[in-house]
Amino acid sequence: MKIIKGVKISPGVAIGPIYYFERYKFPIPKTYIKSEERDNELLRLKRATSKAAGELSQLRELVLDHLDEGHARMIDAQLMALTDEEVIKEVKKVIQEERKNVTWAYFDVMTQYEKALEKTLYIYHKERYIDLRDVKKRVIHHLSAEKQYTVPDLTEPSIFVSKRISPSDIIHIHHLNTIGIITEIGGFDSHSGILARAFRIPYLSNVLEIDKIIGTEQLILDADEEKIILDANKNIMKEYEKRVRQFSISKKKSLAGHAVYESRDGLPFHIFMNAGFLSEVEAIEPSSVQGIGLFRTEYQCIESNSIPDEDDQYETYSKVIKNMSGLPVTFRTFDFGRDKFIDMLDLEMFHQDQLFDDWGGISFCLENPSLLTSQLRAFLRSSVHGPIQIMLPMVSSVDEVLKCKEILRNVQIELREEGIAFRKKINLGAMIETKDVMQILDDLAREVDFFSIGTNDLSLYLIGSERKSSLIKNHYHPVMFQAISKIVESAKRYQIPVNVCGEMGADPYALIGLAAIGIRDISVSYSALQQVAEVVGNISIREVELIADELLSAEDTIEIYTMLKNCLLYTSDAADEL
Ligand code: PEP
Ligand code: MG
Repeated sequence: MKIIKGVKISPGVAIGPIYYFERYKFPIPKTYIKSEERDNELLRLKRATSKAAGELSQLRELVLDHLDEGHARMIDAQLMALTDEEVIKEVKKVIQEERKNVTWAYFDVMTQYEKALEKTLYIYHKERYIDLRDVKKRVIHHLSAEKQYTVPDLTEPSIFVSKRISPSDIIHIHHLNTIGIITEIGGFDSHSGILARAFRIPYLSNVLEIDKIIGTEQLILDADEEKIILDANKNIMKEYEKRVRQFSISKKKSLAGHAVYESRDGLPFHIFMNAGFLSEVEAIEPSSVQGIGLFRTEYQCIESNSIPDEDDQYETYSKVIKNMSGLPVTFRTFDFGRDKFIDMLDLEMFHQDQLFDDWGGISFCLENPSLLTSQLRAFLRSSVHGPIQIMLPMVSSVDEVLKCKEILRNVQIELREEGIAFRKKINLGAMIETKDVMQILDDLAREVDFFSIGTNDLSLYLIGSERKSSLIKNHYHPVMFQAISKIVESAKRYQIPVNVCGEMGADPYALIGLAAIGIRDISVSYSALQQVAEVVGNISIREVELIADELLSAEDTIEIYTMLKNCLLYTSDAADEL
């Protein structure tokens, strides 16, 4: 028996074979086509190349806006490779004469070109080799997705193993037979982590010995105890089979009872839910929450690899609102940037260079006003179905909010002129999650109806950790509590509500600290609701407030962790005695 350690990203246990996924290794179906299928294969080639061309043009605009002509030329080179007539002619020939299916034919032709360029000594040709590889992946991705060879492709219940996993990979594999995830690189606060917890897939990261598990027929993944067991003996296997059964029962259980509205000592505390998919909202019992505190609208784009138009957005938002039966829904405008756009565009070079690290959120939407306008129109139109709020991500200046307000006013005028109904009072809030915004809290509080603290990004900016690989320890960092306390004070001064919608709120120990410094509203993913509701129902807020000063003057993470842990143990004991 061999044990390999890792870090828990999403709880649960699983037993099964592994599915090893190498990014950009697409399965190439080696099948011959019948003569009557030729035209269809040629049509698929046309569709896939034009989809790829559309993505590249979108990317070119972005690169021009944010970088320079030099970087845009890299995209031009790819566009040229994509439309190269010689290549297309050869692919058509292979389809027609050799009767290979289009994916196989395209793969073969591009690989031949690649090989020729790979051998060359000229730098220019070497660069073309990289362009060609990127284009090949992009087109094959479209051909595969179109033919439902969804990538990655798990044909039996398996544990997904890879170096890293992107949010779009998780969105694809959760519909398939994925019973667990193991990666070498990954972080608790990453979007992949958030999604794995939303879909309740056990996930262990920071596993450094991935090579040792490739080829394993069956293994035990115990994310709860942060380990992988290879070659388990019969007794261990039996024990885990039982735990897997229990886990799958617990997964199916939706939250019983009603939402907790107050702490043990009767003070109000509100728990909202974070979501990003209509399916997540449809699967819940609305009475177990007080509304949706964060709806991540950009997930819809990652899922479809495109930006849906106003009507599509309206459809989705309306369904989300209707499902919540009158409870409020906070929609966040598209929050692209960082790991969330790169994955959508699926371009390896940008993964590596992380060229777009510094932009995103509301600034991106303001630079693309038609995108923002159509989203605001969709929000407003859907507001006839129930109460909504609108929230702006990654705000870093008051000016951004003022510009959004002006666009919102114009949208309202437009809709009125068109005779389209919408709700009169819609609150507009700002996410507090960048370093710059911390300097302008009071000015901002005058302009918005609420603050929502994005602790995932805020910790990235304040502590300088990496979201993709950071560990949970960010939640106990003194700087985080000091910053959040400052935000709470500013919100109090201007009498606007403030909530926490980052993952910190879902951490039971951190939650105690948040309650101690004045947070009364949080929004967490559905998988964390049960635990969070238990903590809130068990704590006496008046008691935990007593540690506020000590918490705000603490100097290190361990000190805070110990303080909060003791506080939770003490409160649970007190609750047991009641
Ligand atoms: C955050 O940053 O804490 C947050 C809630 O936003 P997201 O995780 O979607 O970036
Ligand atoms: Mg954020």
